Amino acid sequence: MQSTTFRYDTSEDMGKLFDLEAEGYFYSRLQNPTNDTVAAKICALEAGSAAMLTSSGQAANFMALFNIAGAGDHIVASSSIYGGTFNLIGTTMKRMGVDVTFLSPDSTYEEIRAAIRPNTKAVFGETIANPALTVLDIETWAKAAHDGGVPLVIDNTFATPVLCRPIEHGADIVTHSTTKYMDGHGASIGGAIIDSGNFDWTQNDRFPGLTTPDESYHGVVYTEKFGQGGAYITKATSQLMRDLGCVQSPQNAFYINLGLESLHLRMKRHSETALAVAQFLDSHPKVEAVQYAGLPGDKYHALAEKYLPDGCCGVVSFEIKGGRAAAERVMKALKTAAIETHVADARSCCLHPASATHRQMTDEQLTECGISPSMIRFSCGLEDAQDLIDDLAQALEQA
Ligand SMILES: *Cc1c(COP(=O)(O)O)cnc(C)c1O
Repeated sequence: MQSTTFRYDTSEDMGKLFDLEAEGYFYSRLQNPTNDTVAAKICALEAGSAAMLTSSGQAANFMALFNIAGAGDHIVASSSIYGGTFNLIGTTMKRMGVDVTFLSPDSTYEEIRAAIRPNTKAVFGETIANPALTVLDIETWAKAAHDGGVPLVIDNTFATPVLCRPIEHGADIVTHSTTKYMDGHGASIGGAIIDSGNFDWTQNDRFPGLTTPDESYHGVVYTEKFGQGGAYITKATSQLMRDLGCVQSPQNAFYINLGLESLHLRMKRHSETALAVAQFLDSHPKVEAVQYAGLPGDKYHALAEKYLPDGCCGVVSFEIKGGRAAAERVMKALKTAAIETHVADARSCCLHPASATHRQMTDEQLTECGISPSMIRFSCGLEDAQDLIDDLAQALEQA
């Protein structure tokens, strides 16, 4: 609803809302009927208990973690995550006093368990990581987090609930950049947070923000008043959203809703096309290596069979023989895929990190952070698979 404001019959009615005694809307910085409708859809898709929209995926991950971790606390995170989230946790949240330990996504139960300290408040990872395309063993990460007394937060942006529902594998909180496949048409930036309602915040004394009175909200105790299924999202809305204001525009929520209506069809198509493209690249003499968990030879294929039985999304990455210069020639020759930082969209797009997002790095520095100088990230859109393959074939001739 395109409105900042809502009106009441009496001051008493409004007072009940402010006391969190009655349900309703008071100001679009906290909640809006359109946003709540779209959040409820995403909540149902992820099989959660409560959900909210945020202004971006960055805001979703920040609020999901900051809702339970503050100064003096600690987070354990997979190192194979989106660069923006890596900076958020490793630099900006560190400045706020939240410490972090980054672990390999391939860590064992024992390694994850050992990283959890008495002040750890959450464990974090991505189902299919952007851009490395690693697949997380969610059940192992969830068990280690739970045995350490903390929730597992999973960014499910690339998989979407069509391909994987992390809550069914033990994740407690799920986040999204809805900017990617959920929107799917490059129309609007947005994020979402979904609570499973499965984590018992009262099991230890690590989460006083949820289990003791919130003095900024008339001393409400979120777990007592809203129960296990509602406490986390109610606190994030009535406290963090109230104070930080990173709310999603209702107009953007409307666009995301349009995207959600075709999400199940698009994810199937993106995944089928990407598998065909990955197979083509894998057998091409000018291609050095292909990363796509749908390929039987991929390091993450076994995990993909378990967690992503219906497809591995539309994003493929590959390395070209001949290094940085060869990759630049291929990028120049591609006709169907636009050169963009964006991924996960109806239109194919591609990125050569070494000459774009990571261009200040030397070949040695790139290799150190796991990016080959000749690596291209190719996000398969909804075009005909054969058209994309024909285009790649002619572009590879230039390599
Ligand atoms: C893009 C992205 C984000 C950040 O989302 P924005 O909507 O751009 O703020 C977070 N996580 C993943 C996995 C992403 O791909």
